[in-house]
Amino acid sequence: MQSSINSLRSLEQEALQDQQGRKFPYLRLSVTDLCNFSCNYCLPDGCLDHHHSEALTIDEIHRLVEAFTYLGVEKIRLTGGEPTLRHDFADIVRTIRQVPGIKKLAMTTNGYKMDQRVTGWLDAGIDAINVSVDSLDPRAFELITGHNRLREILTGIQKAFDHGLPSIKVNAVAMKGINDDELDVFLEWIRDYPVSIRFIELMQTGNNQEFFQKHHFPGEKIQERLLERGWIRKVRSADAGPALEYCHSDYEGSVGLIMPYSKDFCNDCNRLRVTSLGQLQLCLFAESGIDLRDLLQRDDQQEALVARIRESLKLKEDRHFLDQGWTGGTQSLSQMGG
Ligand code: SAM
Ligand code: SF4
Repeated sequence: MQSSINSLRSLEQEALQDQQGRKFPYLRLSVTDLCNFSCNYCLPDGCLDHHHSEALTIDEIHRLVEAFTYLGVEKIRLTGGEPTLRHDFADIVRTIRQVPGIKKLAMTTNGYKMDQRVTGWLDAGIDAINVSVDSLDPRAFELITGHNRLREILTGIQKAFDHGLPSIKVNAVAMKGINDDELDVFLEWIRDYPVSIRFIELMQTGNNQEFFQKHHFPGEKIQERLLERGWIRKVRSADAGPALEYCHSDYEGSVGLIMPYSKDFCNDCNRLRVTSLGQLQLCLFAESGIDLRDLLQRDDQQEALVARIRESLKLKEDRHFLDQGWTGGTQSLSQMGG
């Protein structure tokens, strides 16, 4: 694929930065809003409304990624919906991999058919995987996701290691009365296994208010339990994102805590999001996005695209207002990838 970056040579190259001085080396790119799971906190009735057939094409994705790398993005995470439902998922990966400046290409997946597909994802050029596993109990897993697929996902994780991936992150949304008693099961699992578990505090979205009220489980409680069990908070690196990292000398794996309701959560925001329809989202809980798609149609639009992205950054708020129950335009995180 031809590079569209030549049309940018005349522009001053300067990394993206917002009014608060935060830098954005990390882009989360949703490649579809379609999902085949029905997680009780995200799409309890399944994916009733989606725009899978209208999602960004590979050419559009290529131009978008070139513009963002020009603006200092080095890491891209492919997400969704379920990103692997794109038939051209491996082609998307190969295309992004060819863009100079991309140092890390990650994906977040529900692990569907991971046992059969993970080697293909890695061979195409994925170098980090987050896979969602909200319970290690097959029955609870099925109740949460609507799918009896825990075994294939755990096999998929092992296959990723066998294929040479040095570590893998597992996302688990902590939910009161559903999986809040599983901390020790998860910890036992990573005693001799190099998995980094990310416990994510359940976030309120437009469509899960009642569920949220019933099942929200504060991240501080997980933090307390970790400290009681001898886990130690790691020193934060300068470019760390919002997760708090913990380690323990008896364990091969590690733990990350994502606590979006904590006071300073947004201070370390280092990421931007683009939806599968090409809308730039300045925050997971923004009221609306900024359309970029009209500027993804031709290579000679790159200068205008870069200028619009830069200009949009001025609109980024200091923080989200989740603690006040304000969820913006986000009905479920499947709309744009968590
Ligand atoms: N379908 C893929 C998956 O589930 O991994 C990628 C998209 S999903 C929206 C990305 C992450 O967001 C998943 O780890 C999921 O558990 C998390 N998530 C979704 N809704 C959430 C919510 N309301 N609160 C916290 N995390 C949520
Ligand atoms: Fe689908 Fe991921 Fe939402 Fe679950 S969390 S319903 S897998 S988008």
